[in-house]
Amino acid sequence: MSEVEARIPMFEIKDVIVEYGGEDITQCMQCGVCVATCPWKRVGSEFTIREMMHMGRMGYEGYESDDILFACTTCNHCATRCPRGVKIPNIVRVMRSMICESGAMPKNLKAVVGSINSQGNPWSQDKSKRENWAKEADVPAFTEETEYLLYVCCTSAFDSRSQKIAKSIAEMLKKAGVSFGVLSAEEKCCGESIRKIGAEDAFSALAEHNVNLFNSKGVKKIITTSPHCHYTFKNEYPAFGGEYEVYHYTEIINQLAKDGKLNFANSVAKKVIYHEPCYLGRHAQIFDAPRELMTAVPDLEVLEFDNNKNDSLCCGGGGSRIWMETEAHMRFSDAKVDEASAKEVNYVVTACPYCVVMFEDSVKTKNKDDVMAVKDISEILKESLG
Ligand code: SF4
Ligand code: SF4
Repeated sequence: MSEVEARIPMFEIKDVIVEYGGEDITQCMQCGVCVATCPWKRVGSEFTIREMMHMGRMGYEGYESDDILFACTTCNHCATRCPRGVKIPNIVRVMRSMICESGAMPKNLKAVVGSINSQGNPWSQDKSKRENWAKEADVPAFTEETEYLLYVCCTSAFDSRSQKIAKSIAEMLKKAGVSFGVLSAEEKCCGESIRKIGAEDAFSALAEHNVNLFNSKGVKKIITTSPHCHYTFKNEYPAFGGEYEVYHYTEIINQLAKDGKLNFANSVAKKVIYHEPCYLGRHAQIFDAPRELMTAVPDLEVLEFDNNKNDSLCCGGGGSRIWMETEAHMRFSDAKVDEASAKEVNYVVTACPYCVVMFEDSVKTKNKDDVMAVKDISEILKESLG
């Protein structure tokens, strides 16, 4: 019997899932449509979400591996096709929260939760360094008079490569004369990933901290650098008393360009392919803004992956997978780098810091870094700013 089975009495499982907000698990008719759309199927994994749904109804018997329980990237592909409208990633979250409560969480994820609890970020970085990027970029602090809070995700706040994304976005907002500011010294991680891990207590503590902070500062409108923060502020924070207008930066920059406040005049003569972040595309249904922005850049040739928009293949980094090991032949981003390479592009372009991390890793491990680079759209736009 696995640690999970030992700690969760089987007869309780379905009832507990329903009690925790996963009531539509009772709608699952085991048709298997979800399996056919799941990216794990494409890479030959043993993980099947239909069996996980069955496990949720009947018990964890036979599932010794946490890699199965924590395989789902919460990309939402399956849920867009489920004929019974089952919100599958939410049920995965609820099942993980039961596992977390039992203490049987994968080791890598325990470290992430520990870092969140001690430093307020998942990257084991000293919390005092959160504001360094903003000081370097001379970004104003948010005050009562400021219109937008620019919330920079933990990856782009701490990681030097990812800071280029935050700095590019801040530079464009400044150039367009937008009233914006940051609260970086005081804010903490939005908590999206740890909620998907199932660490409900840690997530609630983060959400309460951030909502209290935002409300006390008079925040009404938020611009996010990451689609994951966008999802969380929009969908999870209202339950904690945080009601804000939330925008992904591509929406704001696109509107500024349409209003003539930003002019992308410099040529960027590159052939690029756009990877749709799951939390920007399928989860938020923001498909046009990033494409319109890329089209505005002179001489930029933009290709699509064969599967795009609602049918896009996940990079593999969502649902906490960014912190877990994935065997080389099963990495979704590797498969996409192969396709990008066959299409002979100069850049894989995306609009999510996690996707950038996943793709840069794949470009290196596939030895393509001499011919291909990975960019966030913000970096290309900054290069093109007239
Ligand atoms: S597609 Fe929906 S109904 Fe069919 S097995 Fe998957 S979760 Fe169940
Ligand atoms: S959310 Fe994505 S990774 Fe998870 S089961 Fe559905 S299709 Fe597979």
